[in-house]
Amino acid sequence: MDYYLNPENSSNRLVDEYIKYGTLVVAFDFDDTVYDFHKKGRIYSDVTKLLQKLKSINCYLICWTGQEDVEFVKSYLKENNIPFDAENENPPFHKSTSRKIYANTYLDDRAGLKQVFDELNSVIKTLLTHKYI
Ligand SMILES: [Mg+2]
Repeated sequence: MDYYLNPENSSNRLVDEYIKYGTLVVAFDFDDTVYDFHKKGRIYSDVTKLLQKLKSINCYLICWTGQEDVEFVKSYLKENNIPFDAENENPPFHKSTSRKIYANTYLDDRAGLKQVFDELNSVIKTLLTHKYI
């Protein structure tokens, strides 16, 4: 099996990176990850709670979105207490001319959301258990 098809390996990598840098860069999608794009009354509070936890342990959060109305996204995030440090921009401590936004991991309803959600919760638990946070 390819190394990172084993969720334990990607989870351990995140723990190691947090211990080394004291932060993780987490990119999160907007539509259908924290925002009910199709207005179907769907709730996205578990991802919101996870983002709040990540912010409280010094993670750097990038909203990674295809939404064109930047101000709408920012005001929605603020009104719903969804923490974010940047929108579609690399962190200032990671200078890059690459068009891919740098992150240690990505929360996206189109890219294995459940695995990354579980991994990040498990990372927090491991860091707490070993008193890193
Ligand atoms: Mg989406």
